[in-house]
This record gives sequence, structure tokens and C-alpha cells, in this order.
Amino acid sequence: MKYDYLVVGSGLYGAVFAHEAKAHGKSVLVVDKRPNIAGNIYTQNVEGINVHVYGAHIFHTNDRKVWDYITRFAQFNRFTNSPVANYKGELYSLPFNMYTFNKMWGVITPEEAEAKLNEQRCEITHPPRNLEEQAISLVGRDIFEKLIKGYTEKQWGRDCKELPAFIIRRLPVRLTFDNNYFNALYQGIPIGGYTKMIKKLLDGIEVRLNTDYLKNKPELDALARKVIYTGPIDAYFGYRLGYLEYRSLRFENELLDKPSFQGNAAVNYTDRETPWTRIIEHKWFEFGKDADGNDLPRTVISREYSSEWKPGDEPYYPVNDEKNGRLYERYRQLSEREENVIFGGRLGQYKYYDMDQVIAEALRCSEQELD
Ligand code: FAD
Ligand code: UDP
Repeated sequence: MKYDYLVVGSGLYGAVFAHEAKAHGKSVLVVDKRPNIAGNIYTQNVEGINVHVYGAHIFHTNDRKVWDYITRFAQFNRFTNSPVANYKGELYSLPFNMYTFNKMWGVITPEEAEAKLNEQRCEITHPPRNLEEQAISLVGRDIFEKLIKGYTEKQWGRDCKELPAFIIRRLPVRLTFDNNYFNALYQGIPIGGYTKMIKKLLDGIEVRLNTDYLKNKPELDALARKVIYTGPIDAYFGYRLGYLEYRSLRFENELLDKPSFQGNAAVNYTDRETPWTRIIEHKWFEFGKDADGNDLPRTVISREYSSEWKPGDEPYYPVNDEKNGRLYERYRQLSEREENVIFGGRLGQYKYYDMDQVIAEALRCSEQELD
């Protein structure tokens, strides 16, 4: 066999595993069906702006080990995510904090905000069973109706009563004037873009792009002792137990001949009528400057539209509800019988992982496999 490991997917999981394998003296081949490395964190430089081609990515973690690891491959800037919500032209601060409560109810102090929240939260008297009940029991009906319901139903294509509660628990609720979207000790954007960071992880490793593993499985399997597979788990098995559900995305990108479109990296459109979920203005991830610190005269924006995944589309988000959880479990059991294959990453494990969790998982797998 020519290689110790064949890594399918050059996203974050594949790149971290490949790097670790090489560092342990193993021979590695990485294949990706896309024309570019880096999976969903691929960034492309357009007129000095690092465009997040597959959706906006802000790195954040509380895990010191992960932070120490990833900062070996990139220097991070001090970007703090503070999206703005646009509800029919009314602007609100996110995540839910004193600025949001002041705009929504006119309350001034944390005590007043808490009283208002408590008054609305008591609509839910039992432990929340779904996203809608969880949202109301966290922030009340007013905020649910204006800032959560429309956005969530566009994003997931499902009624809030049919979605798992954990999705909304990702968002902080604070009685302070703090617009930081994440509760994380470490946060930022890799200076120069994520692609540069992945390139560094893959330094000295053979990568074949435009290569679909599933379409060339026998030939590729013959090259390596073991496979690390980071594509969709149901696709690996030819969907033989049925399709897992995913949400797909479509981005409409525009280069505008003006220095600013919306004055912020992310604006979420939380009403039901606007067809897109959010607009990303990429230059603000790096404070509107190019690599030399000059102000950029133009700007790139991306409108993000969410849709149900169908065969042939790019899968972006696993739909981690009960029905899909049961089907995934059956695929996972099948995967355990594949002796020389490890399933990893957001699609391989069908989990709504953030980047830091993907790194932690890839490191855990590397330690188990290589040490
Ligand atoms: P991927 O990046 O999906 O990589 C998998 C790779 O496998 C792809 O390159 C794919 O082409 C390749 N592949 C699949 N099938 C095959 C095949 N048959 N043959 C060859 N190659 C194949 N996380 C954060 O921490 N912060 C954020 O702000 C954030 N924002 C996000 C925004 C969006 C819109 C999305 C969708 C995700 C976001 N995430 C964010 C999550 C983040 O993208 C993931 O945690 C991470 O990128 C997953 O890495 P991965 O390697 O598992 O998967
Ligand atoms: N959400 C919302 N309104 C917003 C932003 C988020 O209702 O303005 C909900 C929505 O259900 C979303 C979830 O919170 O799917 C998690 O949001 P996050 O920004 O973490 O999603 P991601 O960046 O992964 O798309």
C-alpha cells in the first residue's frame, strides 16, 4: 500500500487529522471532490477582501487546548461577532442583551429587563419540549415573534415546534450591555483567511482535488491502509437505509462599488417575508482593511438563502431532530462494521459541530489512532 492514510475531505477535520498523521511519520493522501481545499471554511480573496465562500465563519472556543493548537497555524485578529437583527426595518442587537431589551420594551435597568422577561417567560410552565417553548422560556414571546420565529423557520424550513430545543440554547441571554454573540474565552478570524490556515496544516501533504472518493472508491481504497472519511455518512453507504435530512444554502454574492453596505459583518433578517436569512459583508471580519492596513474602497456582500437539501446539493447543516437521530444511529452502527474506516467531522458524524469541536474531535481521533 502506498499510503498509511487516505483522508477524504480537506476541511478542518481532514486537515487536522492529516497534519497529525504526517507529524507522526505516517504517509497521507488527502482527496476532495471540490476544486478547492478547506471545505466549508474556504475563503477566497476578492479585491483584498477574504470572502467566506461557504458561509460566514467566526472562530470561538473555551477550549485552551484547541486554541493553543490552532494558533500554531494562523494568527487571529480581535474580531468579535455582533450581528444585528433587522425585523421589518427595526434594528435590534444580538445576542439577546440589554440593548435588545431596551429597544424591545424601553427598559433601562437589568432589574426592569428581568421583570419583563419573567412576566413573559411564565407562559411556559413545563420543561421546554421544542425550540419554540425553549425560546419563549428563555426570552419571552415578544422576542420570539420578532427575532426568532421567522429566522428559524427560514433557516430550518420547519415549524419552531418541530425543532429541537438545543438549537436556540446556542445563543446567550444576558442582562448586560454586551453584544458579543459568543460566550467564549477565545475568539477571532485568522488573519489572511481560513484557506491560508488550512494550507499550513496541509503543508507537505499530497492533496488531490476534484476527486470524488465515492465515485473512485475501489482504486482509492487500494492506495491506503486506512480511510478517514469526512463526507456525509449516508452517502458513504449509498443511502441504503434512507436519506438523512440536511439544510443546504445558496449564496448570492455582489461586489459593490462603495465602501460600506451595512456597516457590520452580519445582519440577520428575522421576518418571514424577506427571502434570505442574512447578509454578510465580508470586509468587516477584518475591519474593512486590506492586508497592509489600508481602507478598502469596495465591498463584497453575500445574501444567504436556506433550502431543504436534495441529492446533488451541498449539505451544510445536519437536521438533528429525533427522526434523523434514529436514522443516524442506524448508519453509525453500520459504520462500526467498516473496519478500516473512521467517520469524522460535521457530515461524517452528522452533528451540528462548530469549528472548535471539529478540531477537538480530530485531535481526539488522532491521539487514539496515532499515539
Ligand atoms: P467540511 O468543511 O464540510 O469538509 C468536508 C469536506 O469533505 C468538503 O471539502 C467536501 O467537499 C469533502 N467531501 C465530501 N464528500 C466527499 C467525497 N465523496 N469525496 C471527496 N471529498 C468529499 N463554526 C464555527 O465555529 N463558527 C462559525 O461561525 C460557523 N459558521 C458556520 C456557518 C455556516 C453557513 C456553516 C454551514 C457552518 C458554520 N460553522 C461554524 C461550522 C463549520 O463550518 C464546521 O464545524 C466545520 O467547517 C466542519 O469541518 P469538517 O471538516 O467536518 O467538514
Ligand atoms: N436564531 C434566531 N434568530 C437570529 C439568530 C439565530 O432565531 O437572529 C436561531 C436560529 O434558530 C438559528 C439558531 O438560533 O438556527 C442558532 O443560531 P447560530 O447563529 O448559532 O446559527 P449558525 O451560525 O450555525 O447558522
